[in-house]
Amino acid sequence: MGIIEKLRLDNKKAFVTGGARGIGYNIAIALAEAGADVALVDTDEGTAKASAEEIARLTGRKTLALKADVTKKADVDSMIESILKSFGRIDVAFCNAGICMNIPAEEMTLEDWNKVININLTGVFLTAQAAGKVMIKQGGGSIINTASMSAHIVNVPQPQCSYNASKAGVIQLTKSLAVEWALKNVRVNCISPGYIGTDLTLSSPTLKPLIEKWNAMAPLHRLGRPEELQAIAVYLAGDSSAFTTGSDFVIDGAFTCI
Ligand code: NDP
Repeated sequence: MGIIEKLRLDNKKAFVTGGARGIGYNIAIALAEAGADVALVDTDEGTAKASAEEIARLTGRKTLALKADVTKKADVDSMIESILKSFGRIDVAFCNAGICMNIPAEEMTLEDWNKVININLTGVFLTAQAAGKVMIKQGGGSIINTASMSAHIVNVPQPQCSYNASKAGVIQLTKSLAVEWALKNVRVNCISPGYIGTDLTLSSPTLKPLIEKWNAMAPLHRLGRPEELQAIAVYLAGDSSAFTTGSDFVIDGAFTCI
């Protein structure tokens, strides 16, 4: 079998949190194009439903839209139950839901701090733990978490210490799970995107005005496009990456090199 065939995900069963739009949507459609059935999990049920229907129409794969808040264990558990009911197994878990808050550290309330940490770090843990349990039982699987280049550098000029800390936590969580579950055939990796043009950046009143500044700093002088994360997602999801676990893939147009 050639490498392109080995990259295919035919008959795999996947889910993506934060899958309704942005990076999650682009990853979900890539997994479906490669042959997987995909569940889109999101707090925004309406958009998740429209996106799931769109992916099914474009790829011919089975899709599901599920409402779940990744910070709530009961939501995560019932989301896993619904996926198992419809798909029978879980081969690929993409823990991607995340938010950013730009607040100076000296003004940050504990509530604001907890909000970001709960979604970006605890949400990834709860989702990966629930998927990992299923994968251990069934004999294997691939978990991919969305970290960020903000785990590696401190973004400027916007203040975002809770986001940066949460994403650094995602990388170390990824490595910890990869080691714990290595012999259970459950691989755990993460991606660390640079600035990507999604609602998180393009529609944020605080971040949008900074795009010109970021582009001036960026070696490629532009934002990344969410579809530029699709190939790594397909690679990490499938069996051709069997020796790849505990790794973090920085995809940032060399932003963190400067
Ligand atoms: P978007 O804001 O475009 O999409 C995020 C999606 O996640 C939304 O549909 C949102 O739903 C959903 N979501 C938010 N909170 C929860 C929750 N508690 N449970 C379930 N779903 C939730 O963001 P991006 O696509 O840009 O970002 C996706 C991931 O990539 C995030 O983890 C982000 O930190 C990371 N990232 C993004 C970068 C960028 O420049 N865009 C760069 C590096 C990393 P709702 O609309 O209801 O809030």
